Amino acid sequence: MDQDGKGGLGLLVHQVRSGELDREGFLRAAKEAGVTEERAAELADDALAACENQRRLREQPREAHDFIVIGAGSAGCVLAARLSEDPAHQVLVLEAGGPGTHPDVFIPSRWRHLFGTELDWRYQTVPQQHAAGRVVPCPRGKMLGGCASNNASVWARGHRLDFDGWAAQGNPGWDDETVRRVFKDLEDYSGGEDEYRGVGGPLRISRTVDPHPLARAFMEAAQLAGLPTTRDYNGARMEGAGFFDLSVADGERFSVARALLFPAMRRPNLTVLTHAEVTRLIFEGRRCTGVEFRHGGQVRRVRALREVVLSAGAINSPKMLMQSGVGPADELRLLGIPVVHDLPGVGQELQDHILVAGINYESRIPLPPPRGNGAEATLWWRSQPGLSRPDIQPILHQFPVVTDELGPLPDNGYSIVPGLVRPASRGRMRLASANPLAPPILDMNYLGHEADVEALRVAVELSRELGASRAFDRFRKRELMPGPLGRAGMVEWIRKATTCFFHPTSTCRMGVDERAVVDPRLRVHGLEGLRVADASIMPEITSAPTNAPTIMIGEQASRFILSARNG
Ligand SMILES: Cc1cc2nc3c(=O)[nH]c(=O)nc-3n(C[C@H](O)[C@H](O)[C@H](O)COP(=O)(O)OP(=O)(O)OC[C@H]3O[C@@H](n4cnc5c(N)ncnc54)[C@H](O)[C@@H]3O)c2cc1C
Repeated sequence: MDQDGKGGLGLLVHQVRSGELDREGFLRAAKEAGVTEERAAELADDALAACENQRRLREQPREAHDFIVIGAGSAGCVLAARLSEDPAHQVLVLEAGGPGTHPDVFIPSRWRHLFGTELDWRYQTVPQQHAAGRVVPCPRGKMLGGCASNNASVWARGHRLDFDGWAAQGNPGWDDETVRRVFKDLEDYSGGEDEYRGVGGPLRISRTVDPHPLARAFMEAAQLAGLPTTRDYNGARMEGAGFFDLSVADGERFSVARALLFPAMRRPNLTVLTHAEVTRLIFEGRRCTGVEFRHGGQVRRVRALREVVLSAGAINSPKMLMQSGVGPADELRLLGIPVVHDLPGVGQELQDHILVAGINYESRIPLPPPRGNGAEATLWWRSQPGLSRPDIQPILHQFPVVTDELGPLPDNGYSIVPGLVRPASRGRMRLASANPLAPPILDMNYLGHEADVEALRVAVELSRELGASRAFDRFRKRELMPGPLGRAGMVEWIRKATTCFFHPTSTCRMGVDERAVVDPRLRVHGLEGLRVADASIMPEITSAPTNAPTIMIGEQASRFILSARNG
């Protein structure tokens, strides 16, 4: 795979699986890529078998399935694969997006190029009161793999106190010790097995081995500043500067879709329908008995014999509940939606990490092209000494990162982008109308809490200190922004530079209080036959990017469902 977008093997195989590349075309391309004839034929046959199987299943649709999974994202891919392991289970996955066969999906450093395309839901916030009244774009993956197909590939579990905190809020089985075992089972980590890390699992996780010179400079700058380094932030200690672990294998994105969903698409009991947008959950009394969806220009209905699992992500899962009559009753009535069940917590307590885009530098030398995910190095740190865990995260980017309002910037540059990973602000999402196809009203309430502004101010100054280090001397021509602004000026700049860190969570929060949406086994409170399993159930956002914990949530949900079936 190269930066010009020529296909790697993973992409080519997926194009065959999706019916977009024929056997001959694949064999030719595989030969050019240096793959042996025997191996290429094996890969082609496997992908063609999946393609043919899915075609057959599409052409003979069933009226009912044991399980219906809504959304093939980070969590949905795990559920699809795990629930269909038993050939006795008929499983249907409905995904609104397409297969995700664009080359940029497979090139780890090109995730930004997917923003605003048809592979993105293209959501945006309402004007953010505390972020200079700006509308902030909020990209969400719309394809097999969901955001795991357009994210920055960082593999980060979170801090152990995150999960112990979930358990302490009345959610047994979600403490750090338990989820660590689940993470270990899932991983195939290139750094080898130890007390924390797993090998032999389905998800290939690569350590950064040959970092970009800018990423090396970032690490050196941290050391010169007297900050600790961490060899494995997913291991014994998160805190410190370190290179990222990436969901990348052989230079290509290795998403949870590649790891779990695609290999399962040969199974005769797993139907994966793309371009199938679910518009409504169907209830008989308090029991969810099926779904209504649009596919091929038709409105269709399908029944669930056992359960419906809602894995449409932190924006679309609460949206789906509300448009189906489950949510704050008063709001639903105002929109003319018949109330199935009054659940006031749906869509509330929206959390997201916050990025400040960014501390930008012009380079004095032509920069080598981006490597890895285009970031590769970071620092997990505390904005104040007394904190129990890191709350800020400056990230080195091998290119400029800037908001529309503050850009554009010269191409030959790089940036350090400070993030806030323990936000105090809480937002919410609401329906704009009863029309299920209308985008939601998304209020992230970025910087709604003064503590977030102050923590980010510390993060910005720390990032500027790192950027000014002699470790960057051979790159840095000048700091383009923000420069030395003083306290008030810096706060004003932060409000203009604040943007989405792409990690919304907690809109269908797990818990046992009256505003919780799902119980600790992820069943929707007060209803039957319906679970939610995705980033929306996090009781509180983790202090690291949210893909790995969401995959873990998918795995936990599968185990709950299967043990309930077998118990
Ligand atoms: C640009 C970007 C960069 C990121 N970078 C990182 C990173 O480097 N590391 C990290 O850990 N996290 C990262 N994240 C966050 C992480 O990827 C997400 O938190 C995680 O993937 C969420 O998983 P999910 O299962 O909750 O939802 P999603 O992965 O969003 O899956 C939801 C799926 O449901 C489908 N869907 C939605 N509505 C419907 C409907 N009505 N009918 C049918 N299907 C529907 C969607 O199309 C999608 O495929 C990033 C996210 C983005 C967008």
